[in-house]
Amino acid sequence: MSWQARIEQALADRRNSDSFRTRQINDRGNGRFLTSGGRQHLNFSGNDYLGLSQHPEIIRAWQTGAEKYGVGSGGSGHVTGFSTAHHLLEQELADWLGYPRALLFISGFAANQAVITALAQKQDRILADKLSHASLLEAAMFSPAQLRRFIHNDAQSLSGLLRLSVEGLQLVVTEGVFSMDGDRAPLKEIESATREAKGWLMVDDAHGVGVLGDQGRGSCDQQRVKPDLLVITFGKAFGVSGAAVLCSENTADYLLQFARHLIYSTAMPPAQATALSAALNVVRKGDEMRSRLRENIARFREGAARLPLALIDSQTAIQPLIVGENARTLELAAGMRERGFWLTAIRPPTVPNGSARLRVTLTASHTSRDIDTLLEALYDETGG
Ligand SMILES: *Cc1c(COP(=O)(O)O)cnc(C)c1O
Repeated sequence: MSWQARIEQALADRRNSDSFRTRQINDRGNGRFLTSGGRQHLNFSGNDYLGLSQHPEIIRAWQTGAEKYGVGSGGSGHVTGFSTAHHLLEQELADWLGYPRALLFISGFAANQAVITALAQKQDRILADKLSHASLLEAAMFSPAQLRRFIHNDAQSLSGLLRLSVEGLQLVVTEGVFSMDGDRAPLKEIESATREAKGWLMVDDAHGVGVLGDQGRGSCDQQRVKPDLLVITFGKAFGVSGAAVLCSENTADYLLQFARHLIYSTAMPPAQATALSAALNVVRKGDEMRSRLRENIARFREGAARLPLALIDSQTAIQPLIVGENARTLELAAGMRERGFWLTAIRPPTVPNGSARLRVTLTASHTSRDIDTLLEALYDETGG
């Protein structure tokens, strides 16, 4: 088979199963509205949970940072790319979350890959929740360690696997809030099971940080657990981009020696670090935004209970409506777009087969009227 034939075959398979993916061009996006093709839609599919991507203070901080430092970092943090702005942000994050150290990464994907591949060795075992993000599962699969997946959010299933004999060390991996379902992990039970087996716990809180917990400190703060490695990302509630790993002094020094995504990659622009410090300030003082978001979630769930689509038991900003078939999900998303609502159809392999869904996401910048009009349109579109 030639390269061309292989690619054609893969594309044909995707098209035949209604799982072909394309990108939509936005003229202006995120926050409450998304404009595409000159038409404004109410946006219910972003991860900008607090609406911070459009926040004037954060925009100004990025501009000020660019004027002070220029637009690029000029190199890896190990060479010339680590500025005062990066250093300050790392310290602020460590203080805020109660860890000795924080290390910045250009993305959550890179952070997860870096941590897992730097830590896991041949005799080790990684135990990951079955529904963990692709960046976690893929890193574990590519690492020399053995990967075992435990039943979603099931500490019992995890305990069973932790008791199997292992020559090396065990690393347990889960998320605070699951990206496609919106449900929360039982972190307390997962932490106890992990400690009992003398393993280490890594929590990816991409969708919890900024949204849950005191001052938006996230899922771990909310559930009073302290993972050995906490990954937070800045592309969601922080409204920007990038990520950080929170850990001990020694772990940070170890990652600086062995995490290839840090060593062989250009550091984030210093101006972005400046913007992130401003975003952190807004997040910490964001109780009002978080309570508005909670009100929006409650309002949506109350109304959505009357739809002929299954709602997942989620109390977070991620409120998926399970449709099932890919074709039907695409049709609903297209119908809603016609009505002026931007909702994304999420299909396998991102989610399990037969569970294609409209992944509705709510933000603090939506008004109660926005939620009501969304629900009315969904009733009409689904014949509910
Ligand atoms: C979005 C996401 C990531 C990736 O983060 P990026 O900064 O977008 O690369 C990692 N883990 C989870 C759970 C996510 O939802």
